Amino acid sequence: MILGNLLPRKQVCSNCLEKFHEYSDLVAHVKSKHHGPISRCQTCGEEFVRESDRYHHIQEEKAKKLDSRRH
Ligand SMILES: [Zn+2]
Ligand SMILES: [Zn+2]
Repeated sequence: MILGNLLPRKQVCSNCLEKFHEYSDLVAHVKSKHHGPISRCQTCGEEFVRESDRYHHIQEEKAKKLDSRRH
């Protein structure tokens, strides 16, 4: 599974349509300019601006956990 394929290349703020190269930049922007709402991963504390993004992240973490058990 390739991580980069899950998220679009350009991260666009749905509030003001400003674009960001990094997802973390978009999260920081939404937090400071629009004051959330932010979804947070309960496992690692990573933050997401969309619930669907967090869902994808959690699926990836589950897959990684299964992977590490094999080693
Ligand atoms: Zn914005
Ligand atoms: Zn996480």
